[in-house]
Amino acid sequence: METEMLKFLCANQGAADAEDLICNLFPGKSTNEVVSNPSKFALCSSNGKQRVVARTSLKLCRKKDCPEPCGGLHLCKNFLYSGCCQFLLRRGCSFPHSLDSVYNQTLLREHELEALSREELCMLLLQSDHSMLPSVSPTISTTYSDY
Ligand SMILES: [Zn+2]
Ligand SMILES: [Zn+2]
Repeated sequence: METEMLKFLCANQGAADAEDLICNLFPGKSTNEVVSNPSKFALCSSNGKQRVVARTSLKLCRKKDCPEPCGGLHLCKNFLYSGCCQFLLRRGCSFPHSLDSVYNQTLLREHELEALSREELCMLLLQSDHSMLPSVSPTISTTYSDY
């Protein structure tokens, strides 16, 4: 059910009116029944309407030659955004270019995102990295001042 919601939200640029989401996927249910996992979905209101926003605590790791496991996805940013990397052909790129590596697949499964396509994942990661959303986990809020 959460994967369906994620896919629906990703298809709508990462957010949708709660009404639309429920009409399309879970007719007859209440918003609170559907949006029950705060680590994956946030509710906010805009113009008097409730919006459901997809998010994840998974982040893209930005370190070069980072030792695993650091908890971040090891993937080239260009590859995530566009599915290809122009540096790979020219000067070489030190970031991995596969979502299918054992390490990345393990992470995606941990965050229950393994069913998402690269495009959907990109959307979700970009949106979740944005500091305008509330911090996903209050226990790591000490790192919040980094933003
Ligand atoms: Zn890393
Ligand atoms: Zn690359």
